[in-house]
Amino acid sequence: MTTVSLPETMKAAVWPGDSASLTVERIPVPRPLAGEVLVRVAACGVCHTDLHVMKGEVAFPGPAVVGHEISGTVAEVGPGVVGYAPGDRVVGAFIMPCGECAQCSKGRDDLCLTFFGENRLKGNLLDGTSRLARADGTRLSMYSMGGMAEYAVVPVNALAHLDASLPLEESCILGCAVFTAYGALAAAGLRAGESMAVVATGGVGSSIVQLGVHLGATPVVAVDVSDEKLAGARALGATVTVNSLAEDAVAAVREAVPGGVDVVFEALGRAETFELAHALLADGGRMVAVGIAAGATAASVPITQLVRRGQTIRGSFGARTRQDLPEVVALAADGGIDARASITRRYPIDRADDAYRDLADGAVVGRAIVVMAGGREAVSER
Ligand SMILES: [Zn+2]
Ligand SMILES: [Zn+2]
Repeated sequence: MTTVSLPETMKAAVWPGDSASLTVERIPVPRPLAGEVLVRVAACGVCHTDLHVMKGEVAFPGPAVVGHEISGTVAEVGPGVVGYAPGDRVVGAFIMPCGECAQCSKGRDDLCLTFFGENRLKGNLLDGTSRLARADGTRLSMYSMGGMAEYAVVPVNALAHLDASLPLEESCILGCAVFTAYGALAAAGLRAGESMAVVATGGVGSSIVQLGVHLGATPVVAVDVSDEKLAGARALGATVTVNSLAEDAVAAVREAVPGGVDVVFEALGRAETFELAHALLADGGRMVAVGIAAGATAASVPITQLVRRGQTIRGSFGARTRQDLPEVVALAADGGIDARASITRRYPIDRADDAYRDLADGAVVGRAIVVMAGGREAVSER
């Protein structure tokens, strides 16, 4: 095992399990076991999925360290890890595949049975245990790698090397927002020249806009309830923007794209946005649902329209980590996604709770990140 000098303790934003808040605590620095890498976290993205956990909308055992979208440098590698050494710049994806289960064997890392069984249901890493505990020894669950902390243990299958040309902190969003967007575009099979719409242009939605523009979709329609978010989407390349509070979104989109849209992404996970996304589809159109809904939310779809018009609706949760994460990094290095342009707010770790509060209030345009080394900085906004 190769080691750089590690501190005994670190700051981590701990979710107590019984309220939608985070408290920064000092807890022991975790150590990697076989097949794992300890990452010194540079930054962690602030994502709605963590909020669902914190609000109790998704069953998850607390107390826990949330945060599932990280970048940083390798601090230590566990036994059996090849290809990574201390100091390497890396990004970690929120889906951490075991590489061995029936789904992983088929290349469907996005459906890894071990990851969903151990991590998403129990808050463990893939071997069935957590690496995190409080200073008094009580166990802390890990939501993905528990990235809202100065160090995080990540299974090596969930890591990719970060190209030297890419910014270390901002690139954390490659691990969830961009990764999820990439998976959605792959699920849609979007081709250059097809029309595309994104309903809800937050962190994931704005990444879908950027990647769709890069892949040659035209026109690219953004639908949201916030003029500020729509202006952000336009800056990222959307050519048509529709405020669904201010106007009839279906009529406005159908006027801009006669016949309807070839590929529509739903990135919020509410019944009304799901139904709106479907209503925008062209004959033969494909809809990809990306937004996670609270609990047992259901939407209704007109059956005859779906059948008669040969439309497709499919879900996409993430992407196939081992195959796709390096592709996401390569796309970013190629200019297909500008992580810096997506990030509008930076918070120090001590203000992680404020970051999620602002996200819950709808105040975040694009993506906010928590920067670990920025402990003394004030919140900055561009
Ligand atoms: Zn996320
Ligand atoms: Zn697996």
